[in-house]
Amino acid sequence: MAKTLRLILGDQLNHEHSWFKKVDNDVHYVMMEVLQETDYVQHHIQKVVAFFSAMRAFCQQKSSEGHQFYYLTLNSPENQQTIDDNLLNLIKKHDFQHFEYQLPDEYRLDQQLKQFCQKILISTQVYDTEHFLTKRSDLGDFFKGKKQFLMESFYRMMRQKYQILMNNGEPEGGKWNFDSENRKRYDNQHKVPQFPNFKRNVDEILQVLEVKKVKTIGWISKEYYGAITRQEALEYLHFFVSNALQHFGTYQDAMDSRFPYLFHSRLSFALNVKLLHPLEVVNAAIDFWNKNPEKVTLPQIEGFVRQIIGWREYMRGIYWLKMPDYQFLNFFNHQRKLPDYFWTGKTKMLCVKDAVQNSLQYAYAHHIQRLMITGNFALLAGIHPDEVDAWYLGIYMDAIQWVEITNTRGMSQYADGGMVGTKPYVSSANYIDKMSNYCNHCQYDKKIKYGKNACPFNSLYWHFYHRNRSLLENNPRIAMMFKVLDKMSKAELQKILAQAEKYLLEIEEL
Ligand code: FAD
Ligand code: SF4
Repeated sequence: MAKTLRLILGDQLNHEHSWFKKVDNDVHYVMMEVLQETDYVQHHIQKVVAFFSAMRAFCQQKSSEGHQFYYLTLNSPENQQTIDDNLLNLIKKHDFQHFEYQLPDEYRLDQQLKQFCQKILISTQVYDTEHFLTKRSDLGDFFKGKKQFLMESFYRMMRQKYQILMNNGEPEGGKWNFDSENRKRYDNQHKVPQFPNFKRNVDEILQVLEVKKVKTIGWISKEYYGAITRQEALEYLHFFVSNALQHFGTYQDAMDSRFPYLFHSRLSFALNVKLLHPLEVVNAAIDFWNKNPEKVTLPQIEGFVRQIIGWREYMRGIYWLKMPDYQFLNFFNHQRKLPDYFWTGKTKMLCVKDAVQNSLQYAYAHHIQRLMITGNFALLAGIHPDEVDAWYLGIYMDAIQWVEITNTRGMSQYADGGMVGTKPYVSSANYIDKMSNYCNHCQYDKKIKYGKNACPFNSLYWHFYHRNRSLLENNPRIAMMFKVLDKMSKAELQKILAQAEKYLLEIEEL
């Protein structure tokens, strides 16, 4: 084999990749920490620490298996701080004759590496990451000629294709979807499990970030506790299926200020950097269910499987079908700036405060906090989707653009005009109160729409429908809302709209 350089990106930590089947003395791998990646958006400090720690551990493990690695830390003197420059340097210095890389999951890196290969004089080859269950183009092929891309039909196709929860061609239990059984508020009936933690000192990485003046958001101590090696990720997975899966579906939409993770799996980082394979995760859950039918019921399993083989693969398919245009969509033409409390948590709205503080403290918030608290507020308040995207892409440990932007701009902000979601995910205090313990302790009054201490979600909710009527009233899924709006007296509506206008003017003070 020609002397070969293989690039591994920070989210390509697939231990099982066929590249590693045998040790080859003609092959060198390169991994790099670069300012290009730390600075393209302002990331949470724990996200940068987790990525660098996971990359270093991966390199260490593979080197110990005999593979040859170059690893450039952020402060290595020879680090040129861009992927291109570092690759060019290595190719020249060590006289490589061939270059290989794996398909990046981000559009910007995909473009960059394609262009890089065009400008270098040695031969190149690109490989699949061997991680996803679908190819980039599969979703586009599946929905060819269709105007709507319904997740539900994609998900059913995936269940059949991979024979997951299928029984003689029929869905297990006779139903594809148990969502209606999965919508409970947390009721203290079941103890929330304490996940294992993997304390490691990350002071050295923190010092390097300081020296290189990397600007970050959020908080961290000198220790980091999350799973960043394959072994640790497997421990998380097995802990989750044995201790939390049994209540996953039931409390999937619940929020509780005492429990930032409730019964969620916390597997998104390990999945997105490819330490875990999606089928491995789904099979572990199904295996536990098969062996413990008295503990785990079908709705819990189905709810979990849907997220991994449904939503996750679906979002990736939408990304590759719609990029690069997707990143500019702004269906409602929203223009407002994100208020400062998204970086401090200092707001009187208890639900927003809790979701933001969790995000700052753990680089994590669970799905319903992201969708129905911070996302809901941003949409109701008319925040520009660029602002919303930058915040979500920076703050969450699991945020990589293919899965962040489709969830944020698509599902949460409806900025794609309904490609991902069939209606905007907005709610007043009513839903938040139903699913959480926030409202009873909040300075705002969940029951009123205007007047002293009226909950901002209530007036902004009707303001949203009122101001976007021409864009939404033909959507049959929300026709009902316009009927309710029309039944309101003019005077009542005026008071609600005036309250919302006041709140929007004073948005930083909420
Ligand atoms: P669990 O609730 O335990 O779910 C299990 C797994 O299912 C997750 O680990 C994830 O891999 C997958 N999953 C669940 N929901 C989704 C979804 N909607 N899209 C794709 N995969 C899903 N997820 C990310 O991985 N990265 C992001 O940057 C991201 N940004 C989001 C932004 C917004 C506005 C919203 C509403 C959701 C976002 N999500 C994102 C999806 C989801 O919120 C996270 O995957 C989940 O909260 C991660 O926590 P968990 O591992 O405990 O998930
Ligand atoms: Fe949030 Fe309104 Fe409930 Fe307060 S009352 S927690 S602002 S929904």
